[in-house]
Amino acid sequence: MRKKGLLFVISGPSGVGKGTICKGLLRKDSLSLCLSISVTTRLPRSNEEHGKNYFFIDDKEFKSMIDKGELLEWAEVYGNYYGTPRKWVEKKLESGCDVLLEIDVQGALQVKSKIPESILIFILPPTINDLKERLKSRNTDSDEVISNRLKHVKDEIEKAVQYDYIVINDFIGKALERVASIMIAEKCRAERFSIEDYLKGSG
Ligand code: 5GP
Repeated sequence: MRKKGLLFVISGPSGVGKGTICKGLLRKDSLSLCLSISVTTRLPRSNEEHGKNYFFIDDKEFKSMIDKGELLEWAEVYGNYYGTPRKWVEKKLESGCDVLLEIDVQGALQVKSKIPESILIFILPPTINDLKERLKSRNTDSDEVISNRLKHVKDEIEKAVQYDYIVINDFIGKALERVASIMIAEKCRAERFSIEDYLKGSG
């Protein structure tokens, strides 16, 4: 029997470097992760593509996905809706692929309650001030959007205690290695290993 894949969830405040960490994780041969593409009602940024960064849909389509039970989780984040397509994630996990979700805290906690064996990792900035600087230098959002996002930061960070792991992104390379190590350790957990299958295969 094929072993089911693991579901990893990464969250953290806007600007903390989650995107960069996720890209680094996807490039690692030692992990071979599949990244779930979310649906959102947010408008695309100039550097974003439909089907690559997100599936950009309107409010009506989003509501219809909720009604049909097509979302594993969904949340309103900074005035827009975001959700994880359920079927795609389930299929990948069934096929043995480890899946990565990059979603907010509300969504992550919904995933944990539906799939308790999912592994939640929260990325923190070294300080809140660092985060402010990073958001400003990223230059992808207006001042209004940035100050709205900063208002939510403390609430989000307080929920980090409900996660399985917390990683501080002080240096991107180090943070990436810490997250990758967590994932590799999770894959090696004795409880995920079938001694029966191992003995059968050993002849
Ligand atoms: P952004 O608009 O900067 O791409 O994302 C804003 C926030 O929405 C980030 O915290 C991101 O992790 C979160 N997000 C992205 N996709 C999803 C999703 O499918 N579900 C939930 N709950 N949050 C998401």
